Amino acid sequence: MLEIERVLLSEKEIADRVRELGNQITEDYQHLAVKIGDAPNILAIGVLKGVVPFYADLCRAIALPLAFDFISVSSYGQATSSSGTVRILKDLDVPLEEYHVLMIEDIIDTGLTLTYLKENILRRNPLSFKIATLLDKPDRREVPITADYNGFVISDFFVVGYGLDCMECCRNLPYIAAVRTI
Ligand code: 5GP
Repeated sequence: MLEIERVLLSEKEIADRVRELGNQITEDYQHLAVKIGDAPNILAIGVLKGVVPFYADLCRAIALPLAFDFISVSSYGQATSSSGTVRILKDLDVPLEEYHVLMIEDIIDTGLTLTYLKENILRRNPLSFKIATLLDKPDRREVPITADYNGFVISDFFVVGYGLDCMECCRNLPYIAAVRTI
């Protein structure tokens, strides 16, 4: 059984930070943007499923035309720590040669998932590649990878909410909380 230990990030704290990230990304990519009505050349890739609320909020905070795509990988199964094995469950729908890729992830923990995804995406020759993550747990890093845009650095807690789950529970909580098993 799970118990919410404490709320780490409130709905408002998340919304404020996501808006800041959106403004920063808008500024950084402004020079690349196509006109509204033209095919977007910036592709926001969401890593399913935990990223969904962050992806939806961040993309709406970026005031530039974006194309959407999603990739789904499995690395954790039902465990609360990384197995280190990454498998693609759902691949992208489009080739990447004509896109500036912004990969959007919920959390970087050991870094194994993003390292795998970064190498995989770079082999598809995008015009450019950057990473945006909502949360970063640097204390748990096993491979050196950093995001270009990061919402919050957190300590080594297992967190749920705002898309993040524990065995599919708690994804739709509007805040982010640390949990413990009881
Ligand atoms: P990494 O490969 O960096 O260890 O793990 C990345 C993935 O592990 C994330 O996309 C997320 O699905 C999962 N993950 C890592 N830490 C947490 C956490 O504290 N809570 C939840 N719910 N998932 C986590």
